[in-house]
Amino acid sequence: MHQYICETCGVQYKESMEVPENCLICEEERQYVNPAGQSWTTLENMKGKSFRNKITLEESGLYSVKTIPDFAIGQTAYLVQQEGFNLLWDCISYLDEETISEITRVGGLDAIALSHPHYYSTQVEWAEVFQVPIYIHEDDREWVMRESEQIVYWSGESLKLYEGITIHRLGGHFKGGAVLEWKGGSNNKGILLTGDIIQVVADREWVSFMYSYPNLIPLPASKVREIASIVADMNFDRIYNAFHRIVKENAHEKVQMSAERYVKALEGRLFET
Ligand SMILES: [Zn+2]
Ligand SMILES: [Zn+2]
Repeated sequence: MHQYICETCGVQYKESMEVPENCLICEEERQYVNPAGQSWTTLENMKGKSFRNKITLEESGLYSVKTIPDFAIGQTAYLVQQEGFNLLWDCISYLDEETISEITRVGGLDAIALSHPHYYSTQVEWAEVFQVPIYIHEDDREWVMRESEQIVYWSGESLKLYEGITIHRLGGHFKGGAVLEWKGGSNNKGILLTGDIIQVVADREWVSFMYSYPNLIPLPASKVREIASIVADMNFDRIYNAFHRIVKENAHEKVQMSAERYVKALEGRLFET
């Protein structure tokens, strides 16, 4: 029996005798099946290769955790620390003894929270090793490919995990798509960790919002306006996305400007070509 991992999206499936026939996450219109065909690996198999996780202190109370070389989508997870409460925001597929001891050395984990299904990866492995709950919005339950008693399905619009650390459902990219508001981050100016729910683009002065990033399917103007209005009530000055892209300052204002630009583009008011 193995718990197979899809090599394109990095999501681990429940234990099975045979390799799964297909990956439900990749076959869905927001992702894609590798043109070379669906392929699978396992954590044991990955350990025999050259993968390792690089854990970097980004700033006070914030570490990034990234697999090198890139695996699957290639996202970065973050370890947020606030007064001894340690939260892993989003997750990555690769996990080895070295990573476990390094994370333990910097304080261990108290909880894991996910922005959306593309980063579920091997979240259950991480949760079992550190014996912590995984917070996933109930609207995305259908995308959980490996169920576990560690998973806590939260509902509603916000969930406070610790004083100053709250996850908010914004939807958009996924129905249960969530962001993490960390008021103590960046010297109490606040940090918003967004996964792909709000995307930091190539020009770090701007962000964007999509239903599908690889397949370039936009969100409706009404949804983008709604996201911008929910975020307007949050406290943050900086944004980290899932690919180590950072809007360093004035991110609160930049989200509003970006939402306005996006809606103008959708409605044909931004440019003529
Ligand atoms: Zn997949
Ligand atoms: Zn995504």
